[in-house]
Amino acid sequence: MSNTKITNTTIATTDVLNRYLFNDMHVRGELVQLSKSYQSIIKNHNYPVGVRVLLGELMAATCLLTATLKFEGEITVQLQGDGPIGYMSVNGDNNQQMRGIAKLKPQQKQTKANSLHELIGKGTMVITIRPKKGEAYQGVVALEQATLAECLAHYFEVSEQIPTKIWLFSDDDKQQIAGSLVQLLPDGDGSSENLIKQESDFEHISQLTNTIKADEIFSLDAQALLYRLYHQEKVSLFEPQAISYQCGCSHDKCLAAISQIAADEIESILAEQSKISMTCDYCLTTYDFFYDDLKSFISKDSH
Ligand SMILES: [Zn+2]
Repeated sequence: MSNTKITNTTIATTDVLNRYLFNDMHVRGELVQLSKSYQSIIKNHNYPVGVRVLLGELMAATCLLTATLKFEGEITVQLQGDGPIGYMSVNGDNNQQMRGIAKLKPQQKQTKANSLHELIGKGTMVITIRPKKGEAYQGVVALEQATLAECLAHYFEVSEQIPTKIWLFSDDDKQQIAGSLVQLLPDGDGSSENLIKQESDFEHISQLTNTIKADEIFSLDAQALLYRLYHQEKVSLFEPQAISYQCGCSHDKCLAAISQIAADEIESILAEQSKISMTCDYCLTTYDFFYDDLKSFISKDSH
C-alpha cells in the first residue's frame, strides 16, 4: 500500500472523515468514525436505545454523503413514516458540521423498536441538497431495503446511477458510530472492456471492505484500518476532515422567528407569561425574550 504509513496505535482518531482513492482502479472510499460529535447530538434527549442507534447511523450516513459534495453547501437526510418515529433528520455541511434530531410520536417515547422498519414503519428517505449558491434539489426514495445502509446505497443507484456500497456500525455501550462507503468512479471510456474492469474492481473492493469488523472500525485509526483491509492495493489517503457538532441556533435567529408573529399576539403572550420562550428542538437550548427585547416588534404596527 503506497502513500500511507502503517501505525501500531490502537487508539482510534474519532470524529473524523477519511477519504481515499485506489490508484489503479476507478474506485473511491470513505471512512467515518464518530464519538464526541455523536454523543453531543443525543445528549439530554433521553432517546430509547433503538432510536439513538438509528440516529447515529443516520449521522454517519449523512457524513458520508456530505463528503460527496463538490461545492459549498449542506445536505439534510430525513426519514419519515408511519412508525413510532414521526421523523428523524440529520443535517451536515461541507465542513462536516452536523446536527440531528429524532421526533417520536407522543405515545412512543419509550419505544422498544430497534430496526429501521420497526422504527420508521412504511416510509421514505428525503435527501435535500442546498448549495450555498444556486438552487436546492431534493431526492425521495422509499425505504424498501432492510437497513439504512442499503437504502442509502439504493438512493445512489437510483438518483445518481453510481454503484455504491455502504456499511454502518454502532456500539451503544461506548456510544460510537462508524461507517464506510465504497463507490465506483465512472470515467469517460464507455468501452465494454473498460466497463467490465470497472465492475470487477468495484466488486473486489466491496468484498474486501465487507470483511471489516465492528471491533476494528471502533479501535483502529484510518491508516491501520486501510492496511488491514487493502494491504495488497495501492491506496491514496487524503487529509482527514474533522467532524463536529454544531447546532446553528442562536438568540438572533429566534428573534427573527418571533418577528413574524403578529404584534397583538406578542403582546398577549407577554401579558400572560411576561416573556416568550423558545426551545431549540435540536440542542434543547431555551432562549427567553422579555418586553425590552420585543418592544420594537410591538410598537412598529401598534395603534
Ligand atoms: Zn440549537
